[in-house]
Order: sequence, then structure tokens, then C-alpha cells
Amino acid sequence: MKLIRTATEPAPTQKKDSTGSAIDRRTFLKRSGITLGGAAAAAALSPTMMRKAQAAIPSGGDGTQTIRTVCTHCSVGCGINAEVNNGVWVGQEPAFDHPFNLGAHCAKGASVREHGHGERRLKYPTKLVGGKWVRVSWDEAINEIGDQMLQIRQQSGPDSVYWLGSAKFNNEQSYMFRKFYALWGSNNGDHQARICHSTTVAGVANTWGYGAMTNSYNDIHNSQAMLIIGGNPAEAHPVSLIHLMRAKERNNAPLIVIDPRFTRTAAHADLYLKIRPGTDVAITWGMMWHIFQNGWEDKEFIHQRVWGMDEIRKEVANWTPDVTYDVTGVREELVYQAAKMMADNRPSTFIWCMGGTQHTIGNNNTRAYCNFQLMKIIFLLKN
Ligand code: SF4
Repeated sequence: MKLIRTATEPAPTQKKDSTGSAIDRRTFLKRSGITLGGAAAAAALSPTMMRKAQAAIPSGGDGTQTIRTVCTHCSVGCGINAEVNNGVWVGQEPAFDHPFNLGAHCAKGASVREHGHGERRLKYPTKLVGGKWVRVSWDEAINEIGDQMLQIRQQSGPDSVYWLGSAKFNNEQSYMFRKFYALWGSNNGDHQARICHSTTVAGVANTWGYGAMTNSYNDIHNSQAMLIIGGNPAEAHPVSLIHLMRAKERNNAPLIVIDPRFTRTAAHADLYLKIRPGTDVAITWGMMWHIFQNGWEDKEFIHQRVWGMDEIRKEVANWTPDVTYDVTGVREELVYQAAKMMADNRPSTFIWCMGGTQHTIGNNNTRAYCNFQLMKIIFLLKN
């Protein structure tokens, strides 16, 4: 697909939309404006249904306002009080009344203002011409992209474009993005989690019927044991670790970390299992071997709610401590301890992340994690 129009190609001025009616770039943009205007009119006409958002909190004699926003560096979504003076984001504080970060911030969050003011931030459009990036005006960039997109749309239809949103989108940006490609005439939009957690979605959906996490930070607070495999929240989602530490402090919940690397998260663990990369299924079957062997599974729950556990049991029977050690490199006593910790401390939480999903066998990994949970040794999931 060609994205840049050559100088000899005329800019298309009149195109057909998905319904076959003529539409040009300006009409397309104008209709977007009409849509927004329509929403504003609706807000004016039905005050009980829609109200103007009031995010700004006036403060300070120098005109500085405190505006609540969120850190978009990671999925924790910590609350930030941004200090804005004359339209410029001049300072920030972590929000103490935010339920996720409770006044905490990690180094990434502390630097989030750099998104707007960093020296290396791209401040204007650039175009690759003859191998060099040259500055172009906003009008030029928007016109060229709009022309090319409409050309693609005319030649190949609205579904020829894939709209991929960013994990850094906030709610409002996601909403606008969704509206934009709906206006374009397609449903071909998605979030980048389709890539990083696609194996989770498929693995969990094919096991439980719905592919998403089932727990929350509140569930983690109430956990009596926690197991993290292929995840490193101490570095990837630093503030989330506070919530795990709370379960550790309040409930004396042991933390088990399974990872090929001794990470900063592993440094907080009560038990650390160093597996060979890619042996997630083997270590999970190895723990389940001890659970079945000792009768720690919830037989009533399995009898009433789980279909196919007999097949799993047959497979797990192959994963004796010797076989598990050969494949994973983890000694029997450590595998036994991990299984027993989870069995002795219920309910507990099971957390995985990219270390489990980013494999060609990522689906297998996530399904194995779910099967572990279906023994009702645990009933919570965080991904
Ligand atoms: S944990 Fe750090 S990076 Fe993630 S949202 Fe909070 S402050 Fe931002």
C-alpha cells in the first residue's frame, strides 16, 4: 500500500464513501465536526442525560490550575494532579486520593510531563524525503495523509485500513479513536493489547469462555498467597507491586515468583523458581502433579463445575518430579513447596504477563495457567 502521493499524482478531490455517495476530504472532516456539534447540542437539550465535564480545579493566585489526569506509561493508570499555568503543564504531584497509587509514583510516572515538554519530543510533522526527514506544516501533513487515505478507501474500501490504538490512550482518546474509524466506515479497529495479550485472550476464552482478567487490586489485597509467572511488576508496573505488598503485610501472604531471571520482583519473593525459558507449561504441570498426588485439588468444585479435568489429570501424570526437573531445571522440593504454598493458603492470586504470553506456545501457557486455577487451588487471575 502506497502511503505517500507523488508530485505527479493529483490530489483526489471527490471520493465515494462506503455507501457509494460522493465525499471529499473536507466534507469528511466537516462531518466529524457536525457530529461533535450534534453531541454538544444534545448536551444542551438534555441536561439530565449529559453534562459538561468539569475536570479543572481552579487554584492559586498566580492562575495555576490543578487538573486531574492519569499516567499513561503503564496499565496501572496512576492518578496525577497536573499543575497547569496559562495552558502550560508546569508541574505535577501524584494523587494521594487515587485508589491505585495512593500518592505513590514510579520513576516513569514522575517523568510523564516529558510527553509534553521533553527535549526529544517531536513537535511538528516531518516527512521522509530522499532519505532525510524534513519539516512540513500541519496543513500539508493532514492534507497529504487525508488524500492518501481517501484514495486507499476509494480503491480498496473502508475495511482495507486497520486502526490500531495505543496503550497510552486514555478513555477519551479511545472514545474519539473508535468514533473516528466508525465514521470512516469500518469496524477494523483494535487495541495494542491484541498483540501483547492475544494469547491470553484466546487461552482464557477457550478455557473459561471469556478472555479477560477476573480479579482486581481489591482481590489481591484479600489473597492469602500470590504466584507470579513471567511477570515483573516491580519494573514494568511498579506501583501495582504496592498492592501485592499489602497482601504480604496484612495477610502474611507468601509470594512465589517463577521466572528465568532473578528480577526485582523475585527479590521480594518468599519462594523463587528459576525455570528454563519456555518451560511454563512444564512447571505448571509439575506443580499440578504434586497437587493431584496429595489430593489438594477441590474435588467437589471440579465435579460440579469443570469439564475435562480427567484428561488434564492423565497428562499431568506424565510430569513426575524427574521429568519436570529435566525440562524446567527446577528441583522437586521447590516445585512441591510452590504447590503446597498455594494449596495451604486459599484464596490466592495467579499473575502472569508477557513472559508467559510472548511465545509461539503462548496459548498453551495461558491455558495451563487456567487449568491450574480450575483445580480451585486458586480462583483469581491477573494478567
Ligand atoms: S506504575 Fe508508574 S508507569 Fe505505571 S501508571 Fe503508575 S506511575 Fe505510571
